[in-house]
Amino acid sequence: MTYQRIAAEEAFAPSEILDRYRVLLDEGYRDPGFHSLWGFYLDNPDPRIRQVLARMSDLGDLRLGDMDRTGIAKQILSLTAPGVQVFDAAEGTVLARSSNDFVADAIRRHPDRFAGLAAIAPQDPIEAAKELERGVNKLGLKGAIVNSHTYGEYLDDPKFWPIFEAAEALNVPIYIHPTTPSPAMIGPFLERGLDGAIFGFAVETGLHLLRIIVSGAFDRFPRLKIVAGHLGEGLPYWLFRIDFMHSRMVSANRYATVKKLRRKPSEYIKENVYVTTSGMAWEPPILYAQSVLGVDRVLYAMDYPYQFVPEEVGVTDNLPIADEDKKKLYQSNAESVFGL
Ligand code: MN
Repeated sequence: MTYQRIAAEEAFAPSEILDRYRVLLDEGYRDPGFHSLWGFYLDNPDPRIRQVLARMSDLGDLRLGDMDRTGIAKQILSLTAPGVQVFDAAEGTVLARSSNDFVADAIRRHPDRFAGLAAIAPQDPIEAAKELERGVNKLGLKGAIVNSHTYGEYLDDPKFWPIFEAAEALNVPIYIHPTTPSPAMIGPFLERGLDGAIFGFAVETGLHLLRIIVSGAFDRFPRLKIVAGHLGEGLPYWLFRIDFMHSRMVSANRYATVKKLRRKPSEYIKENVYVTTSGMAWEPPILYAQSVLGVDRVLYAMDYPYQFVPEEVGVTDNLPIADEDKKKLYQSNAESVFGL
């Protein structure tokens, strides 16, 4: 059995955006999570961290060499967290466009090796929907990336739904990627250094996904596809309890915002959501996710350049699963979800 290894959550950042992050740090931007994340990367003299940054803005030989050494046939590129979601609406919209032009140019140079998702600025939902449309129709991008909260707001707010409407109409997924927890909940994470990829990312992004599900967004947009990394940010482990408690809360009728949905929460996770293995190169949870969500729902991702550990590809290569299921994990699920 032969397959191509397609990695579905691979980060890049144009140096223009890294420069703007530098300015936000210096100006004392108001989100403590941003300072924790980008203060760590931009102020860190450790050569390994400098390497991560060098890889981040390279969409040429450095990256392609790394892909060759790890047997990655293709990367699906997305603008790293927090994307353009920390700028004001006008600047975010402009930077999303230039970032999308930048990645589209790299894809034109290496069409066999790269595909990409469109950065959007949810701060202006109408412009974000338009940029998604331009990204897909004009630039050949395969969906949108949203780096979780925008100024502490989540996509379950109907003001953002023009973005869902566009994604559904274009038949492309929205990848909800982590960022640090929103300002309203980051305090206890920061105290113990747990705000980043160690756990805070998963809490923030799992919450975001669950908010979308219980909001009824998938009843309104039944063909909307959401992709989540890190094996679903914990949610697949919670399906039974989420269903049980959601139905109890609906019948108790105590919360104005908890409404009856057409289906159980777990059914949306199984039918509207896809998960990738980014940062989770560990056999037990990969097999678990496949067993509860189905082998058509789990896609491979590396999380380059943050978690560029070449040996981790071996974990996926050696999974005790049928060859055709391995091909789904590495290749065919990504081809079908992103329309490659
Ligand atoms: Mn990532």
